[in-house]
Amino acid sequence: MKFAASTVFAVLPVLVAAHGADNLHARHLQGRQVPPAAAAVSSSSSAAAPPAGSAAAPPAGSPASAPPGSPPGGTTAAPGGTTAPLPSFTLLATNPTAAPLSVINSLQPSSATIPLPSTAVVGSTPTFLSNAPPLPNAALLNPANYPKLDVPPPIDSDEVQQWIKEVQDTGVEIPNLNPTNPGGCPNNTAAAADQTRCWWTCGGCTRSTDITQCPTALDWGLTYDDGPSFYTPNLLQFLDQNNLKSTFFVVGSRAISFPATLQEEYMGQHQIAVHTWSHPPLTTLSNEEIIAELGWTKKIIKDVTGVTPNMMRPPYGDIDDRVRAISLAMGLTPVMWTRISPLATFDTDDFDIHGGLTTVQQVLQNWENILGNVSTMSNGFIVLEHDLFEQTVEVATGYILPDALAHKPPFNIRPVVNCLNRDLADAYIETNNNATNPPAFSAAVSAGALTTTAAPAGQTGGSGGSSGSKSAGVSLHASSLLSLLGLLFGGALALHL
Ligand SMILES: [Zn+2]
Repeated sequence: MKFAASTVFAVLPVLVAAHGADNLHARHLQGRQVPPAAAAVSSSSSAAAPPAGSAAAPPAGSPASAPPGSPPGGTTAAPGGTTAPLPSFTLLATNPTAAPLSVINSLQPSSATIPLPSTAVVGSTPTFLSNAPPLPNAALLNPANYPKLDVPPPIDSDEVQQWIKEVQDTGVEIPNLNPTNPGGCPNNTAAAADQTRCWWTCGGCTRSTDITQCPTALDWGLTYDDGPSFYTPNLLQFLDQNNLKSTFFVVGSRAISFPATLQEEYMGQHQIAVHTWSHPPLTTLSNEEIIAELGWTKKIIKDVTGVTPNMMRPPYGDIDDRVRAISLAMGLTPVMWTRISPLATFDTDDFDIHGGLTTVQQVLQNWENILGNVSTMSNGFIVLEHDLFEQTVEVATGYILPDALAHKPPFNIRPVVNCLNRDLADAYIETNNNATNPPAFSAAVSAGALTTTAAPAGQTGGSGGSSGSKSAGVSLHASSLLSLLGLLFGGALALHL
């Protein structure tokens, strides 16, 4: 049984409102894309001028979280009071059938969606994964057996209580950090300044257990978040036509609303990963609530596809050492998007076109700025994009992907698991090769990145170990120079703001 389309439409605004408010807040503090100092931004553009009235300004009623001097949705941090330059970009190629830029905005009427292809056959066994179970019959799923859409699941259910016990049984030491207040960094002065928390939202701190980039230059770990949606089939069609595979960070509430689309993603050999049930900022939740969000999303994906992802992306990138420890204990490796400085986070901001908070022209300039930064990097990269809205899919299929496909030298565009030089089978707990790709939790413990009070259940070979340490916030250890730079720049940015 599926939800009626009207039901899904009814709940989407809830998700959008929550997403938009938090994004606005977080992104002002992270800063926007800026081009590298050495890269000149083209002044020519084939794009139409931004439509009147579409300036990227928060709507009335938005939280007044923009610090003085913040760019109004732009890319260049103009000094306070200075008007930011109009978006300006050059694309190497566009899709001849793309929607014109002049119509990709918040006022865009819904266009027709395309039917799904029919590669996903109930009961068929994936041939591209070893030991994958047959594809379940998603039509038999009963939504009554799952939490309400787009709200945090209750923690007193039998399922969540079982997952809480499983986390406890790993012996993981979850750092004793209080949940953050809603509202991000300004409403959490002490937590934002506490660098031992390693809170990505406020300073961009990462740990060695976070995936933040692809190791090989010119590799693009392609990702789309927040789906499946009505427009995901349009994206899948473009990807198929161009022999591209992506990683999809799936919202559980969308998965049970669009199970056939999720099956098409999976059977199309895209990577499926976890993005929570109701899309909250995870650091604001209790340990049990985090477990419920991740657990139900793992479960619905397994119930629809037959396999369980082993990667997750925190909504808004909102992760700290408490969320990391819980995620890893649940077998999920965090995947962020590349951030090389406070002013160069690889977020296209495509999400904000739908709500009128930015323009498609600005998004394409953000993309061009990302490319400018990529040209200076000795490793590959991961970009934040979404398949939730018509606008985000059209900017991807009409402009960003065609431009990327024309890039010289060519990009190697592929799912995150592949850019890490692992097989697609290593993206799922049931098909992962544990010998060559140790599961997330035991790998983190073995690497000394995570502390346990007892040997993890079912683990052998000395991967457990008891440290006896009770110190909160030190259960994960920064190991990369990027992490250190993130802290330093983040601190400087906080002072500036
Ligand atoms: Zn998201």
